[in-house]
Amino acid sequence: MSESQRIATLLANVFDDADGSMTPPIVQTSLFSFDSYQAFEDRMAGRTNQPIYTRVQNPTVAAFESLMAKAERGEAAVALASGIAAISSTLLAFVRPGSKIACVEHVYPDTYKFMERILRPFGVEISYHTAAAFEDDENLLDGVDLAFLESPSSVVFTPLNLPRVTELAKRHGALTMIDNSWASPVFQRPLTLGVDIVIHSASKYISGHSDTVAGVVVSSLDHIARIRDLTLPLLGAKLAPFEAFLLTRGLRTLSARMMQHQATANLFVDRLATVPQVRKINSPGANEVPGLTGRSGLMSIEFDNTVDIPKFSDALQYFRLGVSWGGFESLILPARVGLAQAGAQNSMQKFGVSPNLVRLNLGLEDAEDLWADFVQALSQSAA
Ligand SMILES: *Cc1c(COP(=O)(O)O)cnc(C)c1O
Repeated sequence: MSESQRIATLLANVFDDADGSMTPPIVQTSLFSFDSYQAFEDRMAGRTNQPIYTRVQNPTVAAFESLMAKAERGEAAVALASGIAAISSTLLAFVRPGSKIACVEHVYPDTYKFMERILRPFGVEISYHTAAAFEDDENLLDGVDLAFLESPSSVVFTPLNLPRVTELAKRHGALTMIDNSWASPVFQRPLTLGVDIVIHSASKYISGHSDTVAGVVVSSLDHIARIRDLTLPLLGAKLAPFEAFLLTRGLRTLSARMMQHQATANLFVDRLATVPQVRKINSPGANEVPGLTGRSGLMSIEFDNTVDIPKFSDALQYFRLGVSWGGFESLILPARVGLAQAGAQNSMQKFGVSPNLVRLNLGLEDAEDLWADFVQALSQSAA
């Protein structure tokens, strides 16, 4: 595999070892048996590497992991049952009581809850900082063990200058992890920008079809081995073979889908700039920060007070109301729904979000149809 191979080509590569089959077989088994006592003992002693048990190893899952590792330019990958399982299993493999985490503001809401409800009670110290502080404050990572990043962040989509942040992290000896779900490896490959560990909610663009919940972590052999040794087997949030099959299938069209999401998002950003009721557009595009090469279809906008957001949401025909994103279908998620969510660890309340903000997930429908829908719904939504 050549280093210079472009990502669309890489993702379309056929597996070499599948008897001419274009797709990996779904190996739907819990365990693998051994031909002899000696083979069994050799495997347990680590002298061979044949699969033993699907909680830790499965060929269908391995096929997905191998394609993901190539896509992110990492040495290895480990797939897990969900994006949040990938985040929690990675964090728990690298922290201990007394560890200090610096986390970016407007991090994914359940990542924030994991920090506050699980890590903090176990004695991990967590502080939250703006993207600007990560880039400009040379001492921010002094004494910090681990920087948890998202670029762009959730909700307000603030991008980070990753080469700058990772240079500072290396100076202070802090391990860097990033949630790269928004950009996907098509638009951003953080390992090439100095980040140590890349995490995805594969439920989003990697699946692309709103039919799978999954996560994946890509990094060096050593870091992935640590997760495989500790939290994959001992927390047990493994990915099912059938879901791994769906994700490999999703990766085949990831590049083409991202190009379509980008074309629609560019059209929206251009036209939203001329809509008087839109006060702010949160949608980083190609080259807005070093290493970001495209605009995905997930953005947010802030309306002025003349728009009745519930009325606007109900008037939309192609945009459905719902959480998640990254599938074929367009969605709207008004911030006031998130702000209304019960519970003390509400990240939207913590970091502050305008009740006039709405998140748009632009799907694979025709861009002109989506724009016409947006315009007709807005015309019916005067407060
Ligand atoms: C959805 C999401 C997650 C969580 O992923 P699940 O697969 O739902 O567990 C993590 N990070 C971001 C940015 C997300 O949007």
